[in-house]
Amino acid sequence: MANNVAIKTQGLTKQYGQTLAVTNLDLEIEAGQFYGLLGPNGAGKSTTIHMLTTMTVATSGDAWIAGQKISDDPVAIRRSVGLVFQDSALDRTMSIDENLQFAAAMYNLSPDEANKRIDELLSVFGLQDKRKRKLVSLSGGQRRAVDIARGVLHKPKVLFLDEPTIGLDLPNRRAIWRFVEQLRRDEGMTVFLTTHYLEEAAACDHVDFFQQGQLQRGGKPQELTQQLAAYILEVNTPNPENVTAQLTPIFGAPIREDQDLSFKISADDVDFHQLQQTLGDSISSMQWRKPNLNDIYLWMFCSPEQGQTA
Ligand code: ADP
Repeated sequence: MANNVAIKTQGLTKQYGQTLAVTNLDLEIEAGQFYGLLGPNGAGKSTTIHMLTTMTVATSGDAWIAGQKISDDPVAIRRSVGLVFQDSALDRTMSIDENLQFAAAMYNLSPDEANKRIDELLSVFGLQDKRKRKLVSLSGGQRRAVDIARGVLHKPKVLFLDEPTIGLDLPNRRAIWRFVEQLRRDEGMTVFLTTHYLEEAAACDHVDFFQQGQLQRGGKPQELTQQLAAYILEVNTPNPENVTAQLTPIFGAPIREDQDLSFKISADDVDFHQLQQTLGDSISSMQWRKPNLNDIYLWMFCSPEQGQTA
């Protein structure tokens, strides 16, 4: 396996009873990449992370982290990965320092190494003056930052982030992404992300969509959105059937959610102002915009061809 491959899987499969949580997964992620695995609840994202971090054993297939086969030496694998889950691994009744010292001891860091690393990480996260504060007194965003610090104390080669910003407000989510970006820049870490907030995955070098344990189309976020459509046209109308009948021959069938219709527009020279005039009173509002990763997700999992609604 080439040196610059951080994560590789071959036919990785996990079956729970009758449920195939992950089926024949083949991945190859270069070192230093910011990779996003996206998909609906129950798609198999967490199970993939659990297998890659040796928390659960694959039913078949294999995987390598930084060239090491995960089934050969699970302990070595656990040392070379960092993990941040939605459910915090921290003790809220303890201080930041106590939590991080405890984790450092588990990673066999010497007290000097631990102190230096804790200082370094808390200054990245702007928490250096809160080292003695109990977690219970911190904001949700600050606690999540400490979770990430805990996950990277031992300078892992690969950091797994499973829905790391769930439940955080926008400013805190942005702060978390600034920290992750800095860790990637300073430490060359490979980051493997799963998230429900698809706009956050726009910063990934590569994203793959996952459904029912199977890898769907993936690519660079910008290329995927460019390939989807030139524009997304969103129409709100009290007459969705009529407007659908009128516009489907021109643009193809929309995704419908109650009175909201979303059309993919391939041509980049549509006169939307003219269209708005033509539709007149049959619509309440319309807007057009460039596609984003949410649109990729919707058109992959809720498209009219699949007979699903958004
Ligand atoms: P995601 O992270 O994408 O939400 P999961 O990996 O958690 O998806 O789940 C994938 C599928 O595997 C789901 O159908 C889930 O119910 C099932 N599953 C996950 N963990 C277990 C388990 N420990 N035992 C039985 N079924 C499980």
